[in-house]
Amino acid sequence: MLFDLRPKQRREDIFDREREFKELEKSVETYPLSLLLGIRRVGKSSILRAYLNENPGILIDCRELYAESGHITKEDLIRELQSKGSLLQRIISRFKVSLNLKFLRVEPRDASLRDIFRELNEIGEKTGGLVIAFDEAQYLRFYGSRGGKELLALLAHAYDSLPNLRIILTGSEVGLLHDFLGIGDYNSPLYGRAAGEVYIEPFELEVSREFLKAGFKEAGTDVPEEAIEHAVETLDGIPGWLVLFGVEYLRSGNFERALDRTLETARGLILGELRELERRTPRYVEILRGIALGYNRWSLLRDYLEVKGVRTPEPRLYELLKNLRKMGWIMEKNGTYQLMDPLTKIVLLD
Ligand code: ADP
Ligand code: MG
Repeated sequence: MLFDLRPKQRREDIFDREREFKELEKSVETYPLSLLLGIRRVGKSSILRAYLNENPGILIDCRELYAESGHITKEDLIRELQSKGSLLQRIISRFKVSLNLKFLRVEPRDASLRDIFRELNEIGEKTGGLVIAFDEAQYLRFYGSRGGKELLALLAHAYDSLPNLRIILTGSEVGLLHDFLGIGDYNSPLYGRAAGEVYIEPFELEVSREFLKAGFKEAGTDVPEEAIEHAVETLDGIPGWLVLFGVEYLRSGNFERALDRTLETARGLILGELRELERRTPRYVEILRGIALGYNRWSLLRDYLEVKGVRTPEPRLYELLKNLRKMGWIMEKNGTYQLMDPLTKIVLLD
């Protein structure tokens, strides 16, 4: 069903991502490491889950692992991998082979991640390859005490020496993920290892319209053309918001109400994310607000912050803008900054 608020699990519930799906398949065939990138709510987890539904593999939600305690320990990760044991057993029996999974069973302190990866590689050997997918992998920088370096070393080891494993990493904070992996950085354990990259873009306007129409048709509801048009104008091409609108419209049958409720929910989600950002520095949110107000060039932003009494030396402002780009909040085109998600603007100006 298209209008379902959870990440999709099956390819047939995913609208118009055949090309991206094929790109991911191709990438996983070609590279030991693939990145699935795009802003929040664009559909990465959905595509990933649908892919794993058709290919043997397991999924680790890094954001969830991180959220439990604000960091990720070796035991957390081992326990999480071990919790996939029964799924792995099902995969193994589907291939009519038997394997003794020792390290996937023992107490986490008695196993190392290398042991477990080696065992997963053995499974992969029997199943024609096994995928280990880390969703929102930029959170892995909170693994261990060295910014996730040990984990990068493990991924490098898998890349070089475990030929039956395929790693997929997704990331909403694209630049942060790139920085963390450090494929172009001499100091990173992953240095020099080519990764496949698949970008998921928001829908084009026309696709957004078609998506809403298809969703309402599937639900057997007739919706006036203007309602679809208005919805798409406000919500743009981010599938997560469009689905939310669809669900609300089906519930109330009233356009205004559905759009209000959509914006209300979006506000809650975005405010939560802005709070997370604000903890790093309140300047981030002030800069985003400046951009939302139309101070969208370097000099305008500098003056805006000054008027607001938020003193920010120029190199610092440069740094903050770069980070906002890396985290997927803004983009820059010809010296003009723009918010990636139009609903961020609505929330910030409210
Ligand atoms: P991400 O992982 O990029 O944040 P999700 O996969 O969680 O995005 O998708 C966000 C929401 O949008 C979910 O409700 C999902 O069901 C829906 N969605 C995303 N892409 C599509 C699509 N192509 N077709 C149908 N629903 C989609
Ligand atoms: Mg996701």
